[in-house]
Amino acid sequence: MLHVLQCKRGMCMSLNIAICGCGIGGLSSALFLARQGHAVTLYERFDTPRPIGSGFMLQPIGMAVLEQLGLADTMRQRGARIERLFGKSQPSGAVVLDVRYDALDAKYSGLAVQRAALFDALYQAVTAAAIPVKSAHTVTHHAGETLHFANADAAGPFDLIIDALGVQSPLSAQHPGRALAYGALWATLDWPDAPFDPNALEQRYVRASKMAGVLPIGSERPGGPAKTAFFWSLHRNALHQWQDNTLGAWKAQARALWPETEPLLDQINTHDDLTFATYRHRTLSQPYEGRLIHIGDSYHATSPQLGQGANMALLDAYALAEAVSTGRAPCAIGPAFHDLRHRHVMLFQLLSRLFTPVYQSDSRILPILRDRIVGPLSKVPPAPAMLGRIVTGLLGGPLDGMGLEG
Ligand SMILES: Cc1cc2nc3c(=O)[nH]c(=O)nc-3n(C[C@H](O)[C@H](O)[C@H](O)COP(=O)(O)OP(=O)(O)OC[C@H]3O[C@@H](n4cnc5c(N)ncnc54)[C@H](O)[C@@H]3O)c2cc1C
Repeated sequence: MLHVLQCKRGMCMSLNIAICGCGIGGLSSALFLARQGHAVTLYERFDTPRPIGSGFMLQPIGMAVLEQLGLADTMRQRGARIERLFGKSQPSGAVVLDVRYDALDAKYSGLAVQRAALFDALYQAVTAAAIPVKSAHTVTHHAGETLHFANADAAGPFDLIIDALGVQSPLSAQHPGRALAYGALWATLDWPDAPFDPNALEQRYVRASKMAGVLPIGSERPGGPAKTAFFWSLHRNALHQWQDNTLGAWKAQARALWPETEPLLDQINTHDDLTFATYRHRTLSQPYEGRLIHIGDSYHATSPQLGQGANMALLDAYALAEAVSTGRAPCAIGPAFHDLRHRHVMLFQLLSRLFTPVYQSDSRILPILRDRIVGPLSKVPPAPAMLGRIVTGLLGGPLDGMGLEG
């Protein structure tokens, strides 16, 4: 049932709220806050707001939020149900990752979607709600309650400024830091005629320095062609060399690692068919300063190893609306939001820091531990259920106290 957060004291003032960034966090926040009757304006740098990137996984915590927005069914129609995360280490062929959602409960699964499909659903809802979007507005900084833009314009004063500008946010007091050593090349390709599981994220590794993955991501629109996200882990210092080499040389490596990817590799014709994404780890210990509140990647950036970033941005949007709905003074909203989110954020940021080098690093020891000890142990109860809790995002009870059900 659609449950729209209402003003809990029944006498909230309508706040004037600026939301910076038309990503997942910004768009979903705008929807929740506008539904509470606040005057919301979105600011976005692009001339036409658009998503960047291939696909990702919505987890039960993210779906619980989309349910509240009335968009969960829309996404189910477009996405691919994921029941299992499965990875083999090569050349041994040892299964070192096998997480099944039903190890936690048969009702759980993931939903892999095209980034464009989620963006489109959120953006259409924002348009239908007549929320103003100021595109071509690159935010540079804020001075108190006023926002400043690259074209020397300013806007405000606002009761609240929400920073949903992502990992490189200029509004964040903390520098995003250097990109992690390993990023990944990504492509959105047609679902191949090959023996991939349509309900699994599949990966292959050589130590932690090579990794390839295939994720079914459904279609951008209902009834459209089924797609897959293909990714290849790459050290950021090796990007120029990869660009200078022939595509054939790289394809030979990919084929040697995972011969079944041939029909995917056939769809990649130039280097430009792949996009390189870098990752950063950064967590703000306090996601607010007065009337400025950071959500999504500007609050907690991480590598996508645990597949939680978009889901956490959705949960932030819901928690923020929950904090606003109690009719507190604007300066008290940041601490209330922090209180709802910080335990879950800290836990998953820590887990992400621990897991990332196991799958993407130059370490020789970690992959040996992964293959010989952690992989086998992960099949022994209660490890499968614990892994299920991590993957679903439910570890630490992030939905408790927020009226959400996973
Ligand atoms: C390759 C890859 C795979 C991923 N896979 C997963 C996954 O499987 N599951 C998952 O949950 N998460 C995944 N993530 C993480 C997820 O994409 C992010 O956590 C999520 O997009 C964060 O949302 P956000 O709204 O905070 O920021 P963003 O989505 O980055 O949105 C920021 C918005 O702000 C705009 N903007 C930026 N700077 C300015 C400025 N100065 N002025 C105005 N506008 C500006 C941008 O154009 C953008 O529209 C993945 C990330 C990557 C890179």
